[in-house]
Amino acid sequence: MERHEILGTPVDSLTYEDALRLVKESVESRRPLWILAVNPEKIIKAIDNEKLGRLLSGADLFIPDGIGILWAGRILGKRFLERVTGVDLFIALTEEAARQNWRVYLLGAAPGVAEEVACRLQSRFPGLQVAGTHDGYFSREEEKELVARIKKEKPDLLFVGMGSPKQEEFVSRYRKELEVPVCMGVGGSFDVLSGKKKRAPRFLQQLGLEWSFRLFTEPSRILRMKALPRFILLVLRKKFGLLKLEEDK
Ligand code: UDP
Repeated sequence: MERHEILGTPVDSLTYEDALRLVKESVESRRPLWILAVNPEKIIKAIDNEKLGRLLSGADLFIPDGIGILWAGRILGKRFLERVTGVDLFIALTEEAARQNWRVYLLGAAPGVAEEVACRLQSRFPGLQVAGTHDGYFSREEEKELVARIKKEKPDLLFVGMGSPKQEEFVSRYRKELEVPVCMGVGGSFDVLSGKKKRAPRFLQQLGLEWSFRLFTEPSRILRMKALPRFILLVLRKKFGLLKLEEDK
């Protein structure tokens, strides 16, 4: 597996099968595997916030989530085998979990959402063992108790859907204590899989235009999209060697 770097953030060139194999190895050997879905927004956040950048680089597997990552790879001459999205990998991993009898824990989103996702996944993948669910709204005081509860349930896979960087901060802070082999941040995936939010139609997904659908259905996301033009500019500057990254902060 080849590891590239896009504007200072590592991104792995891999397929869904590669990711599944690594997860299987991690569950069997109990060797921790933190999976981070990389998109342009996270890369820009890492550039702007050095501390966050260091935290994110502590992950073990960096999947090329956004279409922007594949575009940047093409411009910078870094080949990615395929786009591996967080939500599709999450689904593929729960399917495999049902097959392998792995226990999954779903943490995040508004109260009731993770339970709904668990029910839907269990009817889609019969036999899926859900070790537990919890919403993503808790105080720092409640956090300790929650961590102890998750640990007690001994999940093999922990999916955290609290948005970025909250979910990454949680995983980074507690992954050792939790002793869960596989941790993965899944952003707003629980909202989509619970039916609370609509996912873009298949043809838009295939064209890599899922973001345009999200913008259309949630116009408030426009502010978050401001990272994208900066990302494009930085990639082009890097390509043509106009400016070093440090000077761009
Ligand atoms: N969320 C949460 N706890 C918080 C803030 C947000 O569990 O303190 C959840 C929120 O309910 C939503 C998800 O995190 O389900 C964030 O979704 P978004 O689409 O913003 O995430 P992205 O995929 O863009 O990182």
